[in-house]
Amino acid sequence: MTKLELRDLGTTGLKLSCVGFGASPLGNVFGLVSEDDAIASVREAFRLGINFFDTSPYYGGTLSEKVLGKCLKAVGMPRNEFIVSTKCGRYAEGFDFSAERVTKSIDESLARLQLDYVDILQCHDIEFGSLDQVVNETIPALQKLKEAGKIRFIGITGLPLEIFTYVLDRVPPGSVDVILSYCHYSINDTTLEDLLPYLKSKGVGVISASPLAMGLLTERGPPEWHPASPELKSACQAAAAHCKEKGKNISKLAMQFSLSNKAISSVLVGMNSIKQVEENVAAATELAIFGKDEETLSEVEALLNPVKNQTWPSGIQQS
Ligand code: NAD
Repeated sequence: MTKLELRDLGTTGLKLSCVGFGASPLGNVFGLVSEDDAIASVREAFRLGINFFDTSPYYGGTLSEKVLGKCLKAVGMPRNEFIVSTKCGRYAEGFDFSAERVTKSIDESLARLQLDYVDILQCHDIEFGSLDQVVNETIPALQKLKEAGKIRFIGITGLPLEIFTYVLDRVPPGSVDVILSYCHYSINDTTLEDLLPYLKSKGVGVISASPLAMGLLTERGPPEWHPASPELKSACQAAAAHCKEKGKNISKLAMQFSLSNKAISSVLVGMNSIKQVEENVAAATELAIFGKDEETLSEVEALLNPVKNQTWPSGIQQS
C-alpha cells in the first residue's frame, strides 16, 4: 500500500498528512453521525496514515470537540503520533476574541478533547471580529498559552483572503505559524493560489479546507445551510452529474485537484464514515501513482467556468 504523503507545515517542524480529517461532521454539521461511526472513521483514518485532525468549539456547539476527544481516546493513538488543531473566538453563542475568553476557551477545549495540549490553536473566522483586536490582543494572549505549554502553534482562519495579509503584515514575525483558508482551493475556486508565495515568504504554513466546497462537489450535494448562490449550486450539480455519467466521481476529482498543489500542507476534508475516509485516502494514493484525470478535470472546469471563483459574502470589519 502506498503511504499517505506527509508535508511540512511552514516552519513549525510538524509533518501533516496531506489529507487531514475535518471533524466538523462529528458535530452533526452535515447530518447525524453516531458515536460508533465517528470512532470507526477516526480509527480508519489513523490506520491509513491520516495524522491531522481539526475541530472547533463552534462545530455542533462543542459536540465535535467532545466526540473527537472520545474517538482519539478509543483509538488509543500515541499522543506524539497525531496532530490536533482546534479553534477559539467563535462559539455557538457568538464571537469573542478577547484575551479573557480565548484563555478560558483553551481549558474548556482541552477538557472536551481529553488532552493536555493541542498542537495548533487557531482564531476562528476572524473576519467576523475586529482584526485589530486579533493583532493586538488575541495573538498576544495565544502567545502566553504557547509559553504555558497548552498549545504548540498559533493560527488564524477565515473566508476572505485579505484577512490573512492584514494580520500577518501587522504581527511580529513568527507569531502566527499557520493559516487555514477554506473554499478557496478547489476546482471551482482557486483564489488562494495567488497568496501562496506571500505566505511562503512569511514562513507561514498553509492548510486548505473544504476541497469539496462544503458539499458542493459531491454527488449528494450541499447541506441546506450552504451559502452558495443557486447558480453555483446548479453548476456544481451539473458537474457532479457529468462525472457520474462517465463513471467518475466528482469528489475524487476535487480531492485530487486540491492535493496536487504541494504548497498546501494539508487538505482538510470533513469525514463521517469509513467509506469517505477510504475514498479520500485512495484519492491521494492514486494521485501519487497515476496523476490527475486531466480529461475529466478539463470537462468539469469548462462546466464550472461561468461560476469560477464565485464566493459568498462574509462580514469583514477591520477595527
Ligand atoms: P468539505 O468540502 O470537506 O465537505 C464535507 C462534506 O463532504 C461532508 O458532507 C462529508 O460527509 C462529505 N464528504 C467527504 N468525503 C466525501 C467523499 N469522498 N465523497 C462524498 N462526500 C464526501 O467541507 P468541510 O467539512 O466544511 O471542511 C473540511 C474541514 O475543514 C471541516 O470539517 C473543518 O475541520 C475545517 N474547516 C474550517 C473552517 C474554518 O476554520 N473557518 C471552515 C471550513 C472548514
